[in-house]
Amino acid sequence: MDYAPLRKPHKDWNRRISHCPVCVEKSVDAAPEVLDCIIIGGGPAGITAAVYASRRGLSTMMITGDTGGQMRWSADVQNWTGVQHATGQELVDVFMQHIDSLDSQNGVFPLWVRRGAFVESLEKSNTIFTATLKNGEVIRSKTVTIACGKTPRTLGLTGENKARKTKTLSFSATSDAPLYTGKNVMIIGGGNSALDIALQLTHYAKSITIATNIDHLRGEECLRQKVLNHDKITVLYNTETKGLELNSEDKVKAVVMRVGENAEARTIACDGVFYAIGQTPNTQWLGDFLEKNKYGEIVVNKRCQTSVAGCFAGGDCTDQPHKQIVVAAGEGAICALECHEFVQHGSV
Ligand SMILES: Cc1cc2nc3c(=O)[nH]c(=O)nc-3n(C[C@H](O)[C@H](O)[C@H](O)COP(=O)(O)OP(=O)(O)OC[C@H]3O[C@@H](n4cnc5c(N)ncnc54)[C@H](O)[C@@H]3O)c2cc1C
Repeated sequence: MDYAPLRKPHKDWNRRISHCPVCVEKSVDAAPEVLDCIIIGGGPAGITAAVYASRRGLSTMMITGDTGGQMRWSADVQNWTGVQHATGQELVDVFMQHIDSLDSQNGVFPLWVRRGAFVESLEKSNTIFTATLKNGEVIRSKTVTIACGKTPRTLGLTGENKARKTKTLSFSATSDAPLYTGKNVMIIGGGNSALDIALQLTHYAKSITIATNIDHLRGEECLRQKVLNHDKITVLYNTETKGLELNSEDKVKAVVMRVGENAEARTIACDGVFYAIGQTPNTQWLGDFLEKNKYGEIVVNKRCQTSVAGCFAGGDCTDQPHKQIVVAAGEGAICALECHEFVQHGSV
């Protein structure tokens, strides 16, 4: 099989802010006043929902803060069916080529895409949903798919914001690993994300320390073995991170940490820190519009229905336990098919 498309950068995606095969070359203003479907989020769940919804003939607008979501952060995706290896960015590129291809089908697929746009609130009045964007724009629709994913957690330590600005506190090795060339790096966390970050850093950093707060590494066995056998990586168990120390330029110079139960906190010098301590669902903006669980995840059933009729949710922002690209994409497809069903029949 030819994997060549995965290696090519996506053509000119950034210039495209909207495209509708029904009204090619027209601006986003040409979208109907009331769409069939709004999709909020452009990770694997949102992109797949957009493909399915537009191919079902629903007038669809995908509104997304970025393109690709967390997928961009993975250095090596090995579990997207049919592709043995790809960087997250390569997968994003082919996902986007797919979306892009939908406007070359002689007006069959009515899809608009809004990038760099955030939905700030969602309301439903009678049968119509109203999404208000951060820029004040209002988009109306008969159904909604929420696919707004998650963002990385922080520890709430003093100095985190300053360290983020000087790029000595990072979350994504894919974006930031080269910044740590020849440096000593600490990773806080002990699951798949921490292991993935550590392995990416081995190509750049001088030394890597993983600090986990339990007595073993979680994560897939093959990743654990690679990490434990790598001579650049050290693992500290039963740690508690107490603070960050910054230099006069606001760059991280050390982490204050207790290592081992009942141990005294000590200062461990390093040039930068990665947090890999989980993510928070991007659902705060929804307020109490729909039912969420205690973690802020949107409660859905197996048809991706939320507590609000006509509003569906899929991917990492929901209470389904398996946070993976293929799962998110599958749920995006379910959401779109359910939106189609809802538009056709007006109920569940
Ligand atoms: C470092 C790392 C490595 C990973 N590696 C793998 C792997 O190898 N294999 C695998 O299967 N999974 C992997 N995952 C998990 C996988 O990336 C996620 O499960 C998947 O991306 C979830 O997709 P999603 O579409 O639900 O959400 P996300 O990918 O989080 O996308 C959410 C989207 O919603 C947008 N958004 C959020 N709020 C708003 C708003 N208010 N308005 C508009 N847009 C909004 C965001 O900009 C983003 O585009 C990895 C994750 C990380 C962090």
